[in-house]
Amino acid sequence: MLKAKILNEQEIDKILRRLVYEIYENHKDFNELLLVGLWTRGVYLSRRIADIFLSEHGIKLVTSELDITPYRDDLYTKEKIPLKTTNLTSTQDLSVIIVDDVLFTGRTIRGAIEAIFDFGRPKKIELLVLIDRGHRELPINANYLGRYVPTSSKEDVKVRLKEIDNVDEVIILE
Ligand code: 5GP
Ligand code: MG
Repeated sequence: MLKAKILNEQEIDKILRRLVYEIYENHKDFNELLLVGLWTRGVYLSRRIADIFLSEHGIKLVTSELDITPYRDDLYTKEKIPLKTTNLTSTQDLSVIIVDDVLFTGRTIRGAIEAIFDFGRPKKIELLVLIDRGHRELPINANYLGRYVPTSSKEDVKVRLKEIDNVDEVIILE
């Protein structure tokens, strides 16, 4: 059941533009910056951020995609399955910004950090998320945050993006 509409298309776009500006303000060398979008919706968000960066600042950022499922600590198997979906080559000496839609316990991001280290020693890793819904189980926070949305653990945040969902919106279901 729909509990609340959090963001519409214009609000998502406004937030992404602000986050682009924050990244622009915090970084100097954009040649060594790498956006890593987490499958699925983090990938689309990272591409939008790169598009806005190019149109607003004339700078082309490098983007990569990563499916961190094999790195999750709550998988039944302890065996590390090879990464299915990544086009990451090297993270050596790069400033990496992980991009995801929703931050919850933080376990996905922990896995993403581990995966990124498997591709080299980055100079720095930061995190950008559209929604932080609380309930962290690890000491992980976003450097670039769209919106903090306190939720109960029963609720589900739906992030819908035009690229795959035909609409841009964030809603809470309960
Ligand atoms: P965590 O690993 O922090 O517990 O969960 C974050 C990951 O699970 C993210 O990749 C995110 O896409 C997904 N996730 C967790 N909770 C939600 C939620 O309420 N809504 C959506 N859309 N994704 C969630
Ligand atoms: Mg996800």
